[in-house]
Amino acid sequence: TVGAVALDSRGNLAAGTSTGGTLNKAPGRVGDSSLIGCGCYADNLSAAVSLTGWGEPIMKLVLGKWAVDRVQRGNAPEVAANEAIAYLNKRLQGHGGIILLGPDGRFGLAHNTPRMAWGIGNERGLRTGISSEELT
Ligand code: ASP
Repeated sequence: TVGAVALDSRGNLAAGTSTGGTLNKAPGRVGDSSLIGCGCYADNLSAAVSLTGWGEPIMKLVLGKWAVDRVQRGNAPEVAANEAIAYLNKRLQGHGGIILLGPDGRFGLAHNTPRMAWGIGNERGLRTGISSEELT
């Protein structure tokens, strides 16, 4: 999976998530990445989020929306990202990673998978975050 979140100088938040899916996936499986609110979500009033990991628990928890709602209620993205992965793990023993960008440009990330590469940028008024993870 490759995920991206961005904030422009007008306060617009955006998110994108791309994936090849999981190993040995069932034919026709639609994973979390393409489901808005699960592996990807953005709302100018709350946050932008992209998730990676084993998609089934992420879908069951609608975890992207869960995480941005925490930011909207006042949690810092750094905190909400950790809470989301802790919730994923506690509730369904799920494994994944998250990047989260708030309307103030604060960036949070967390993962309980072995690795997740990530980076943040700030150029010409555009604040960006990207992540990439391999599950196998
Ligand atoms: N979340 C993706 C899926 O379950 C897999 C991935 O993150 O690479 O389809």
